[in-house]
Amino acid sequence: MRKPIIVGNWKMNKTIAETKAFCEAVDPEVNDSATFGIATPYLDLQTALANTKNLIVAAENCHFKDSGAYTGEVSVPMLEEIGLKYCIIGHSERRTMFGDTDETVNLKAKRLLAAGMTPILCIGETEAQFDAGETKEVIKKQLNGSLANLTPEQVAGMVLAYEPIWAIGTGKSADKEIAQNCCGYVREVVKEMVGEEAAEKVRIQYGGSVKPENIKEYMAQPDIDGALIGGASLKVDSFKAIMEAVK
Ligand code: PGA
Repeated sequence: MRKPIIVGNWKMNKTIAETKAFCEAVDPEVNDSATFGIATPYLDLQTALANTKNLIVAAENCHFKDSGAYTGEVSVPMLEEIGLKYCIIGHSERRTMFGDTDETVNLKAKRLLAAGMTPILCIGETEAQFDAGETKEVIKKQLNGSLANLTPEQVAGMVLAYEPIWAIGTGKSADKEIAQNCCGYVREVVKEMVGEEAAEKVRIQYGGSVKPENIKEYMAQPDIDGALIGGASLKVDSFKAIMEAVK
């Protein structure tokens, strides 16, 4: 049985004070129907860790090198030192605006896994690729590149987030059949790459305009094990409503 995992991706939102207030309001109400968590800006991570017992805390990115002349970057040992266990990698905003590629995402995954941390690895197609019927091709290429040379055990412990770019922050969520088909296809590609056992274990999230009103229908799909949620994860009430809906 795969335990569902639902993570709020805050992106570039919330100050330290806002992080503290959010954690104080939400953490005591976390139920164990799923793993619930938040991915926060680097500066908020320690505050989030200090104010949570039940939510898991993730960074939104990392560098694959341990140190060096990479202005503005944060390394895995730095995240490890504060006690962090999860990190998003390859989010489409990082791929389109900050130059992440399947190759760098693969290096990041390897570095996180070497530190015993869990990568939450994002993939997904653009609207033009979706319209051109290229979704599966894109998913396969991204997975083949981002998961290259990982062992079945490593992949089994990861979280993969399928997020169609046309659904992110647009309010235009993928309908549940599309989301299920694509997450099912993600599992198929994982099986091709590292075998059935890892494919059955890996947790696959859907992301893209998930909200309290639609999360239930995604969670009811056999290959959807959770969600990566941007906008609807920012407000205490809406995060609580998501937790309620999943219960
Ligand atoms: P959204 O963002 O829920 O605001 O569409 C999802 C994401 O970017 O992970």
